Amino acid sequence: MGTIVIAIGGNAILNPERGDPQEQQRLIDNTAGEIVEIIQKGYDVVLTHGNGPQIGNLLAMQDECGLVHPQPLDVCGAQTQGMLGYSLQQSIDNRLKEKGVNKQVVTILTQVLVDDSCTSFENPTKPIGLYFPEFKARKMMERGIRMIQDQKGFRRVVASPMPESIVEVEAIKKLVHAGIIVIAAGGGGIPVVRKNGLLAGVEAVVDKDLTGSLLATAVGAETFLILTDVEKAALFYGKEKQVDIDEMTANEAERYIKEGHFGKGSMEPKVLAAARFVRSGGKQAIISSLNKALLAIEGRAGTRVTI
Ligand code: ADP
Ligand code: MG
Repeated sequence: MGTIVIAIGGNAILNPERGDPQEQQRLIDNTAGEIVEIIQKGYDVVLTHGNGPQIGNLLAMQDECGLVHPQPLDVCGAQTQGMLGYSLQQSIDNRLKEKGVNKQVVTILTQVLVDDSCTSFENPTKPIGLYFPEFKARKMMERGIRMIQDQKGFRRVVASPMPESIVEVEAIKKLVHAGIIVIAAGGGGIPVVRKNGLLAGVEAVVDKDLTGSLLATAVGAETFLILTDVEKAALFYGKEKQVDIDEMTANEAERYIKEGHFGKGSMEPKVLAAARFVRSGGKQAIISSLNKALLAIEGRAGTRVTI
């Protein structure tokens, strides 16, 4: 059946109650159930996931505590990768046991080399984490934390450089070829650069859809499936003349991006990631919602991107 890389959105595993563990577990179990159905169809599955809400919660805990040193963003990224990897790995394992499928699941703590010449480091624009009231935001800014203000309040902004390659890619490929279900590059991967040949973490977050596209190309996946909370990407999104897209070519995708049809930092990176995957030789990329995952693979739901 071939290899499929599935990127699941923070939304699918997000905890609206700011960290209620039971709610988190319920969402993880629901996601795992969908993934196991795809595994049962015979696909070799590589899973990646977002970490927006989780890294936001971690930063909020650090900001509030005041007793311990805040950890840099690469370390926070590693923590959320471990935490979500653990939950997904265990939940998928349990669902596989229930279904009598004899397969192993492992999470790879994954580093991603990023473009450190990127202007995003001097001028960070990616908002992450919780909203803060002005008095708190001012205090944080005095500590050197960059914040921006929108209608809902103040939020931290960080660099989000382009991912260039996945450090552990050979290990991931070997595991996939051995029939093991791999969870990798969670949260877009831990951002690192190479200095004089040595790896070092950087203060940034990486877009999980763009890293997912690199991962899908690297493992030679046929299909790159991006699961989020809308069933299709749309033109004129949210307007009266909204048109959902069933299919588009990479050329069309890039044209629609230029025309500004997709939300920056939400749908735009998904469409860009999909176009990059098919441009790099992948057969198809599909954007769909978690509960339509199987239908999407069968070509009966979602937005399909081909060359
Ligand atoms: P994820 O956590 O899955 O990455 P995001 O919130 O980043 O989710 O992206 C999905 C969101 O993108 C949808 O909830 C939708 O509101 C938004 N969006 C922005 N532009 C579009 C568009 N043109 N078509 C569909 N959804 C869009
Ligand atoms: Mg997103």
